[in-house]
This record gives sequence, structure tokens and C-alpha cells, in this order.
Amino acid sequence: MSPPYGSRLAGKVAVITGAGSGIGLESSVLFASEGAQVVCADINDKGAAATVEKITSLFGKGRAVSIRADVSKEEDVKKMIHLAVSEFGKINVLFNNAGIMHPADDNALTTTEDIWDLTMKINVKGVWWGCKYAIEEMRKTGGGSIINTASFVALRGAATPQLAYTASKGAVLAMTRELAVVHAKENIRFNALCPGPLRTPLLMEFLNTDEKKNRRLVHVPMGRFGEAIEQAKAALFLASDDSSYMTGTDFVVDGGLCSAY
Ligand code: NAD
Repeated sequence: MSPPYGSRLAGKVAVITGAGSGIGLESSVLFASEGAQVVCADINDKGAAATVEKITSLFGKGRAVSIRADVSKEEDVKKMIHLAVSEFGKINVLFNNAGIMHPADDNALTTTEDIWDLTMKINVKGVWWGCKYAIEEMRKTGGGSIINTASFVALRGAATPQLAYTASKGAVLAMTRELAVVHAKENIRFNALCPGPLRTPLLMEFLNTDEKKNRRLVHVPMGRFGEAIEQAKAALFLASDDSSYMTGTDFVVDGGLCSAY
């Protein structure tokens, strides 16, 4: 990233989960480049700290802090939100982005209760707790923007089965819509980001052969995997006042996948 930087998040404080890799890493740097102060949270504390180092080297000190937070643990999520307030005075944006896709074969017949419960704990409960503690703080300052990362698999039946993951992302969409309606008059906006298949560690670990990659790409009209920065740019739009009349949406960034036959 190179200057000039923008000011679309000037004066705002953002908390981003999964900030150590992929979408969360790119979003942390992009949000900071647009003037935000950022809390970079990840279960991988080294990854989150490396993101802060990158932000500091690009934009100077005082722009970001890291915290080790496992979003499946309520206490961790509470501490993460409270760190934004103690360090930067408030929270304007929460990007509930951390998520897992279990590496095991995960269809209705092969998935296990352990895989199901772990996926729901991180992908669904983590989003709920983030929203719970952010809403409390956003009420005090007159509103905010919350972005929850869902997936295209919540909108279309994926041909490559990952049942627990798909169910978890469907829950994220449903939760986002209800929260948007319930909190609209408080000026707290909720939108779901629905990425298509991306070239990030989460997916690429599964796609270790050309054959596996091509099986996915056949469904993508653009014929390529998305990049994390393309999702970060969409998240920036949802985080900023540029999207001030948007709440409760499924914001699809998928190379045309959801429109394809
Ligand atoms: P990634 O693996 O690059 O990054 C995910 C980050 O989340 C990692 O840094 C990881 O340490 C962190 N994380 C995992 N479990 C955590 C926990 N319990 N608490 C806190 N942090 C945790 O993956 P990504 O592609 O950037 O994924 C980000 C989000 O995008 C996820 O919610 C994922 O489901 C969603 N998504 C990804 C794709 C894709 O193709 N990569 C497609 C659609 C949606």
C-alpha cells in the first residue's frame, strides 16, 4: 500500500476479528490507511501483533493495538471490545470476521458432533457475542456499523459439501438481518459480507491440487479466486458512512458466482 491515504474512517475506532490473516489482515491495514484506529484481534496472537507492526510501520504509532481473543469465548470477546474503549475511547465499527472451515470431510453422513459444535461456537456464537458487547458501547455514542462475514454458501447450495460451515454462515445471515431490524432506530447498522471463494489460507489449505482448484473455479464466472483485499474494500464501504442507508443486506462479493447457472 502506498500514499496518498484516504479519510473515509477518520476519527473512527474499529475492532476487527481474524486480523492476523486473510480478509482481517487486509481490512485492518486498509481501515487504518483510511484514518481508523484499529483493535486487531485474533486467536493467533503473533498474527495479530504482526498486523499491528505493519500498520505502525506504514502509518506511525498509536494507530493499532493487538489482542489475543478467541471469539468462541465470551470473556475474550468482552475484553476485546472493552480494549477499544480503554485504548481509543469508543467503538464505531466492529468487523466480526474470524471464522473456521473444518478440514475434515464435512457432509451430513461424515460430519461429527465435535466438528459441528466447534464450527457453531466460533462462526456463530462469536458473532453474537461481538454484537452483544459492541451494541452496548455503540448505544453510548449514537450508533455504529457492524459487519459480519458470512459466505456465498449461505445463499447457494455449495457443490463441495461443508455442512456445518454452511449452516453456520446461514445463521450469520439470519442473525444479521434480525439485528439490523431491531437496532435500526438506534443507528446501529448490520450488514453481512458474503465473499466468494478466495485465495486465503482458509480455503487454499483444502485446494492443494489443480484439480481441486478447478472444481471450484468452474462455478466462478470471472474464472479466478478472489483476493482478500477485494473483500477488505467492500468491508470498508460497509464500515464507512458511504453506506449510511444500508442495513440488513447480504453484500455479495463473489466474482459473479451467485448469478451463475
Ligand atoms: P484466514 O484463515 O486467512 O483468516 C481467518 C483468521 O481467523 C485467522 O487469522 C485465524 O487465526 C482467525 N481465527 C480462527 N479461529 C478464531 C477464533 N476462534 N478466534 C479468533 N480468531 C480466530 O481466512 P479468511 O479467508 O480471511 O476468512 C475470513 C472470514 O471469511 C471467515 O469468516 C471465513 O469463513 C469467511 N469466508 C472465507 C472464504 C474463503 O474462500 N476464504 C469464503 C467465504 C467466506
